[in-house]
Amino acid sequence: MNTIKLYQQDVYLKECEAQVISVDEDLAVLDQTVFFPTGGGQTCDLGRINDLNVTEVFEKDGIVYHRLEQPGPLRPGQRVLCRIDWERRFDNMQRHCGEHILSGICYREFGGINRGFHMGQEYMTVDISLEEDPSIKEITWEMAKQAELYTNEVIWSNAPVTVRRFKTREEAEKLPLRKALAIDEEISIVCVGDIENAADCVACCGTHPSTAGQVGLVKIYKVEHYKGMFRIYFEAGKRALLDYDAKHDLIASLGNRFSAGPEDLADKIRAREEKSKAVKNELHLLRQSVIAARTADIRKDLEALRKADDPKRSEAVLVYEFGDMKTDDLLNIGRPVMKDVEKLLLIISSQDNTLLLFSNGTVDCGKLVKDNASVCNGKGGGNAASARAIFPKRASLDAFIDLIRTIC
Ligand SMILES: [Zn+2]
Repeated sequence: MNTIKLYQQDVYLKECEAQVISVDEDLAVLDQTVFFPTGGGQTCDLGRINDLNVTEVFEKDGIVYHRLEQPGPLRPGQRVLCRIDWERRFDNMQRHCGEHILSGICYREFGGINRGFHMGQEYMTVDISLEEDPSIKEITWEMAKQAELYTNEVIWSNAPVTVRRFKTREEAEKLPLRKALAIDEEISIVCVGDIENAADCVACCGTHPSTAGQVGLVKIYKVEHYKGMFRIYFEAGKRALLDYDAKHDLIASLGNRFSAGPEDLADKIRAREEKSKAVKNELHLLRQSVIAARTADIRKDLEALRKADDPKRSEAVLVYEFGDMKTDDLLNIGRPVMKDVEKLLLIISSQDNTLLLFSNGTVDCGKLVKDNASVCNGKGGGNAASARAIFPKRASLDAFIDLIRTIC
């Protein structure tokens, strides 16, 4: 015997008494129910049967199955009280009906056919195909905004939402349907507004509010190309209001940070970006001049060493340390002078315990690192003219310098 679907008779029924027909593990079948089963793009109702949570509801061959949180103490013949989570149901009704109206408007305005619908946690989407009217090639953002306005005008008109049930396809097809029927019997047709001038008229088994006004609001977020169609992202009802709330709070908090209102916030952000770009440029120029000055200092030291005509000059290992620059900048200090280094030039980056090695080739920097860094818990590599070694702590780096002084 098919379950009596009370949600089809009165969509506002929040609870009912019922008799348990059968219980199989955690699945209960009742003689009648207020629980809407998953279908038609709408998720099922949740709620309670007596004190047991209902975690899933689905329909098969006219029978509605209620999955309980655990195999419960229900027995066939027992009278039970069913109560749905109304907030969840009404949210579903608002969103689902909002989608009906928007899809109906896309059909009316662009000949767009709804080929897919998804109710996500963050937003809903409809995939609109424009194959009907060859003169319309795309849904632009302006067109989407126009459709959004028309959709909300239908909502504000508080048009009635009616459900008509038909035994056969022939009877149902007399209505101005926006989409061909996919089933042959027991057909529910949902219409928003008068049949003669319906905002939407389509087969649907979901739950809908009795008037469009209860949808409250529809807001489109974006439109994008999707598999030859156009995917519209949107939200409806309380969720659209909550989204407005969140975005308003975000604009208000940005406004506080930039001392601006919504009207001049974009200008203030642009001005801040330009200032930040100018500071970045200035910093770059300053960094370049510091790099050039330090390179010049090292060049001067190398020159002095050469002029001193010290017979031991070719054995000198020169060490410099800069704590205010990153390794990449230190590389730019060492590279221009490396061909003048008779033995070895070492630059310590104390910010990240890294040692840079430079030479004119008399010492193979890469090999020095490869053969010895691991002795001091370091790692790294490079070529004959330059290399780098990275150490876990400063003491290891100092030990490595001591070690290569003894080797070179
Ligand atoms: Zn529907």
